[in-house]
Amino acid sequence: MSHRANENDMNKPLFSFEFFPPQTPEGVEKLAATRKQLAQLKPEFFSVTFGAGGSTQDRTLETIRQIKAEGYNAAPHLSCIGATRDNIRAMLNTYKDMGIKRIVALRGDLPSGMGSIGEFQYANELVSFIRAQTGEHFHIEVAAYPEFHPQAKSAHDDMLNFKRKIAAGANSAITQYFYNADSYFYFVEECRKLGVTAPIVPGIMPIVKFAQLARFSDACGAEIPRWMRRTLEGYGDDAESVRAFAQDVVTALCERLLKGGAPGLHFYTLNQAAPTLAIWQRLGLPR
Ligand code: FAD
Repeated sequence: MSHRANENDMNKPLFSFEFFPPQTPEGVEKLAATRKQLAQLKPEFFSVTFGAGGSTQDRTLETIRQIKAEGYNAAPHLSCIGATRDNIRAMLNTYKDMGIKRIVALRGDLPSGMGSIGEFQYANELVSFIRAQTGEHFHIEVAAYPEFHPQAKSAHDDMLNFKRKIAAGANSAITQYFYNADSYFYFVEECRKLGVTAPIVPGIMPIVKFAQLARFSDACGAEIPRWMRRTLEGYGDDAESVRAFAQDVVTALCERLLKGGAPGLHFYTLNQAAPTLAIWQRLGLPR
């Protein structure tokens, strides 16, 4: 199922931008301004994250509503950990009624100390459930991990688990961010050997605050290569040097990915337009 305008667009890279649902009225305003800037790049869709356990359920829905009202394609993330079938069914119906056509289906991570796993254990179960409830209505995206998910028993197991999500009915995948293009190309090649043909779009994380990124990367299993880490650490509080170096590195990564056949790029915008716009401009992509 494709949402592209026509077949001539099939080889055009597909770009998308991810936001988190803001918590404050100022955040909502700031995100609206960010969206306005990024909309000029004509992305395929804007996606909005969903706090595991439903912690952002209302804010995710509200942000999706705003994006839709502005006339853009909106893709809510939906994580199933801690959820019941009734819960998920209700959200799917709400999104379907709103005319939403794309969902990013995830397991999520249970916040520490938070109760039970709920009625879904893994994302493949969520994908099957969405298909069973809503047929082919949604284009389903799932997560992929070129550097492997930290809880996977082995790299091969992780790929088999990824394959399971596609077999359950997912159309395409967005990866966890990474800074080593080879890990992406290897992952895609191994998936193709396993018979997985779905598009796998690299997730791109512009680097804004290094300390924050380092903490987050340790937790989610994404590697910041040593040469990058040491260089960024060396810049300390020199934000201008961090920005310039990060832009060089991430632009070069995007270039290599697109040249190597990546079907598009999904930017983790952190609700800011400038870092993504800077990379976009340096890639010479159309505005
Ligand atoms: P799964 O695909 O279920 O995999 C989780 C782990 O279980 C993996 O190690 C896998 O190998 C293993 N596994 C899978 N199936 C089986 C099986 N049947 N048997 C045994 N082991 C299995 N989190 C949020 O909370 N909200 C978001 O909005 C959000 N958005 C994201 C967007 C993207 C593009 C990405 C890459 C991640 C996002 N995450 C989000 C993070 C994600 O929820 C976590 O990485 C989570 O730990 C795994 O989710 P998953 O959907 O990949 O899980």
